[in-house]
Amino acid sequence: LEPAYQYMVRVRLPGGVATPEQWLTMDDLANTYGNGTLKLTTRQTFQLHGILKWNMKKSMQEINHSLLDTVAACGDVNRNVMCNVNPNQSDVHSEVYEWSQKLSDELLPRTKAYHEIWLDEEKVIDSRETEDEEMEPMYGPLYLPRKFKIGIAVPPSNDVDVFSQDLGFIAVMEEGKLLGFNVAVGGGMGMTHGDTNTYPQLSRVIGFCPADRIVEVAEKVITIQRDYGNRSERKNARFKYTIDKRGIDWLINELEERLGWNLGEARPYHFEHNGDSYGWIKGDSKWHLTLFIQNGRIKDLEDYQLMTGLREIARVHTGEFRLTPNQNLIIANVTEEMKPEIIELVNTYGLTDGKHNSALRRNSMACVAFPTCGLAMAESERYLPLLIDKIEGVLDEAGIREEEIVIRMSGCPNGCSRPGLGEIAFIGKAPGKYNMYLGAGFTGDRLNKLYRENIGEEEILETLRPILFQYAKQRQENEHFGDYVVRAGYVEEVSSGLNFHK
Ligand code: SF4
Repeated sequence: LEPAYQYMVRVRLPGGVATPEQWLTMDDLANTYGNGTLKLTTRQTFQLHGILKWNMKKSMQEINHSLLDTVAACGDVNRNVMCNVNPNQSDVHSEVYEWSQKLSDELLPRTKAYHEIWLDEEKVIDSRETEDEEMEPMYGPLYLPRKFKIGIAVPPSNDVDVFSQDLGFIAVMEEGKLLGFNVAVGGGMGMTHGDTNTYPQLSRVIGFCPADRIVEVAEKVITIQRDYGNRSERKNARFKYTIDKRGIDWLINELEERLGWNLGEARPYHFEHNGDSYGWIKGDSKWHLTLFIQNGRIKDLEDYQLMTGLREIARVHTGEFRLTPNQNLIIANVTEEMKPEIIELVNTYGLTDGKHNSALRRNSMACVAFPTCGLAMAESERYLPLLIDKIEGVLDEAGIREEEIVIRMSGCPNGCSRPGLGEIAFIGKAPGKYNMYLGAGFTGDRLNKLYRENIGEEEILETLRPILFQYAKQRQENEHFGDYVVRAGYVEEVSSGLNFHK
């Protein structure tokens, strides 16, 4: 008898956009084959947890029937392409979203193995008779040395944490029209505890490309990583290390040589935040409601029927759902006529836009960790809300409950919740023990730095309390917490991942 192996299934969902029908499929799969919950991830997609091995094929086929797939959602390839969710600027958003979808499609592996294995499609090519380069002109026979991540930001929102991506694109607009993108290379959050050769890094902007050349740029960047990425040491295989080893000028030369044309000069841009704006917003003609979904977990509790409420909304909604990079959810493109019905469902099920929560909680993000992630060293998703309960007590005493502070927790240094960009961040070391980091930039433009190592809850609260009180008293006008702790000397400013451990 084989043990009941269970798996996580992650969907490819460029830009985090899903139709109501697709939402209902995911909900149904979670309840039929999964653990009765859905996880909205930090890369704007769905994860199903607890799928038993013998239900995998049925799950994949049903995902496919709803016109979604899981191709390249894992593995050493380009992963789910992230895209800014900004219902305020719907024209530019939809154009940028189309580019994210195009990037996702064009950068997919060409192999049909997925379709043969999961969808019972006939074998179309016998790889033994075909040159690998022919099958995979971009990835080649060996694919990439490690995963590769792309995100597109539309200023002033940096919700995708564009500088945390291997390859980031920053939309450049003029009078509401998309001109093209600034190109940023070499970001990444992951590291290994105790190994200073590994570190989080932020990408650097290297130039500008017109919108219609974005796929070409991405392809060439990926081939550089394919050819030069470290294939002997997996911990040093991400693109950030390839660039840091050879230098940014080398990268630009290599890229321009492969492109056959030069990038333009980077255009000015300005980010204001990397979080979400909650509540109702009116776009050009339709409405969008951003709901707060704590750590992206959709499930029913006795006193909070979140999963049922969203299912009922999906049954009547005529727009789409947008999963945000901060694990929240937008009920997008609600018509004027449909708005009262959506409001009624939101009220019936008590769905929240998070505004009654502290600003700290609204800006919180945790990875999955225990019990479903095999790499977890400590709790994350299940623990951060409880820790925030306690920190909120301090915020109330200090009178800064409405101060926007970005707090993030990851169960291991892989950094799925992008903890290097938390103004306050925790990375798990062992059950109940965390490294605590302070001082990231509020707009996602500066890494934080280690402040305390291997501490438990009591010490976390004891450590944070005086700092939060000092911040409440000494902050300058509009000064964010991350900037304050650097100015006040709690931590040194980290100007590059190369200084992260110094
Ligand atoms: Fe798992 Fe680590 Fe990612 Fe958290 S950060 S989901 S523990 S791999």
